[in-house]
Amino acid sequence: MTEPVTVTRDGDVAVLTLDNPPVNAMSFHLRAALATALESVRNDDTVAAVVIACAGRTFVSGADITEFNTPKAIASPNLRELIVTLETFAKPTVAAIHGTAFGGGLELAMGCHFRVADARAQFGLPEVKLGLLPGAGGTVRLPRLIGPEKALPAIVSGNPIGAKAALADGLVDAVYEDGLVERAVAFARESAAAGKRLVPVRDREDKLAAARADLSAFDARIAEVLKKSKGLDAPKRCADAVRNALTMPFDEALVTERKYFVELVEGDQSKAQRHLFFAEREANKVPGVGKDDRPRRIAKVGVIGAGTMGGGISMSFVNGGIPVTILEMTKEALDRGMATIEKNYAISVARGSLTEEAKAKRMALFTGTTDYADLADCDLIVEAVFEEMGVKKQVFETLDRIAKTGAILASNTSYLDVNAIANFTSRPSDVLGMHFFSPANVMKLLEIVRGEKTAPDVLATAIAVGRQIAKVPVVVGVCHGFVGNRMLSARSAELEDLLLEGALPEQVDRVFTDFGWPMGPFAMGDLAGLDIGWRNRKSLGRTAAIADALCEAGRYGQKTGKGFYIYEAGARTPKPDAEVTALIEAKSAERGIGRRSVSAEEITERTMYPMVNEGAKILEEGIATRASDIDIVWINGYGFPVGKGGPMFWAELVGLQKIVDRLDYWFGRTGKDIYKPSPLLRTLAASGGSFADARKAAA
Ligand code: NAD
Repeated sequence: MTEPVTVTRDGDVAVLTLDNPPVNAMSFHLRAALATALESVRNDDTVAAVVIACAGRTFVSGADITEFNTPKAIASPNLRELIVTLETFAKPTVAAIHGTAFGGGLELAMGCHFRVADARAQFGLPEVKLGLLPGAGGTVRLPRLIGPEKALPAIVSGNPIGAKAALADGLVDAVYEDGLVERAVAFARESAAAGKRLVPVRDREDKLAAARADLSAFDARIAEVLKKSKGLDAPKRCADAVRNALTMPFDEALVTERKYFVELVEGDQSKAQRHLFFAEREANKVPGVGKDDRPRRIAKVGVIGAGTMGGGISMSFVNGGIPVTILEMTKEALDRGMATIEKNYAISVARGSLTEEAKAKRMALFTGTTDYADLADCDLIVEAVFEEMGVKKQVFETLDRIAKTGAILASNTSYLDVNAIANFTSRPSDVLGMHFFSPANVMKLLEIVRGEKTAPDVLATAIAVGRQIAKVPVVVGVCHGFVGNRMLSARSAELEDLLLEGALPEQVDRVFTDFGWPMGPFAMGDLAGLDIGWRNRKSLGRTAAIADALCEAGRYGQKTGKGFYIYEAGARTPKPDAEVTALIEAKSAERGIGRRSVSAEEITERTMYPMVNEGAKILEEGIATRASDIDIVWINGYGFPVGKGGPMFWAELVGLQKIVDRLDYWFGRTGKDIYKPSPLLRTLAASGGSFADARKAAA
């Protein structure tokens, strides 16, 4: 093991090099070593100034999140104590920053008198992304350095600040292209020689003056910045803390920040967000895929079908810098698809999120064709044609003939059997599902469907390319609807019956939005178009009393201005409609169902609990590797509220035994399979275990 802190001398400047691989997290042993080192140089008369630098690829990248909720996190010396030591140092202290100074790393740097940085360095307080706020003075010091107007969005969003902006805003004092540590030493030496009074960040108040003078304007800014984070406690607390930096004396603001931190770190939301942080990393570990399974090179991608999904999928690859050839059946369909893509980019330009130049660059990466021969040199081909096995068969048989050896052949199918699709080719080991979500250029989730013959390096490639195009990949097994859509079916199974028994769409949707979903299932149906499900049901010989009746009345949802709700011309806000209430009541009467009042609790139990139960079955069958993978699917593909951590994490908060009891109750009343608790769920509930234990048991 390396020494966590080494002290070297460059003349009268002491350089403290922190070394805690891989990212110099502020673990207890590092803090202890830094305190000792600071003590030794503080008392050394031959030291005129101190540089704090880091070994390896980055400056201190944050707190050690594995220490959260453990005694080590607060054991002395804690970060706050170290910062006080630095702030009261009688000799100049200079943080020399390369890589990423995030969270506790930036707070440590703000404890120094000066900060100098490598030109590629990044700065940020991303705690909010873990449901927290900076807990060691970040919210009180950053506004003093860059002004509260800039500190507020930086802390509430947690997004990084580049070196150039950091210099312009006053977060750092100098930026260097190269030779960071030598230059930091020179900077420190000059500061010592100049003999100027050292002003710690805590005592700098000039940048607070404007916001202090007009607090109501600052409050308006807070309201605006918080708009995007409804339902989450941490962004609100971040904003409160920045405001406290204006209204409270430094020490009081610091104590209050700490109080907020403790509240948040012990709360369920932050636990959920930290769970998701680890879950996303875990999802990259796939059984049977090891380090030796090197991803294949993907320099060119083919996409078949330029419809809703093909267009969005193509945009995703192009946005990730990979050229795409799109194949359609006819020139007209191709032109239509390309026009939609162009229109989507034009909207981004109009919104200011893309420049004309960048748009032109992206458009240049697309090639359109109606000839399969043009896909012969593609490294990966993603099929997004109609959801019919016959069409998929024809496409994959053709791909088998024309694709080069080693090309990966992927299907974007939502429900069809990926093993059957793979067997249409002579190379099933090169075939897998790459299931994108609509709109594919926006939604982060990528379900990678592993066929029984899919080669490990093909999976490794799909994961790597998925990450390259900024998706969150999760590997799942073959079954009807895979993880997400299969659980969605279970969540939706009782919706019609809830309406028939006495609930109304707006009441059900309200339970969902109160829970934190962006939209309820009926408003969602109206948005997607009720005719899609109607056509689907007809082809499968199924019916849905209410949804069918709505479609028969020409109520397809938003596109016709009426569905489960009514929409004012040009508006997207769903309004309850008396006609729909009457229609539902008539359907209940037709079936001889006496309508009764349905509670919010019942709605939750009959939608969310079957979804959790289906998740447990998916886990039991090995379709998902771990419960946290299921959470990642729901957070990134279906809008499950982040602060609740995903359906499986949430189920544990509710209590598995409670869920089993209520499933048993509803099974007793309805006899429906969706309520029959999965054996795994029942066992875990009885033993007081968690889904994480299920994984260990299976391993
Ligand atoms: P779509 O109807 O919008 O587009 C399909 C396109 O494929 C059409 O443009 C059509 O002309 C083209 N096409 C059909 N047969 C073809 C062939 N033999 N060769 C070349 N092109 C052909 O459909 P979509 O919504 O984009 O769905 C495509 C696939 O993606 C389906 O398997 C669907 O289940 C799946 N999917 C859809 C969604 C969604 O929300 N729409 C989400 C995930 C997955």
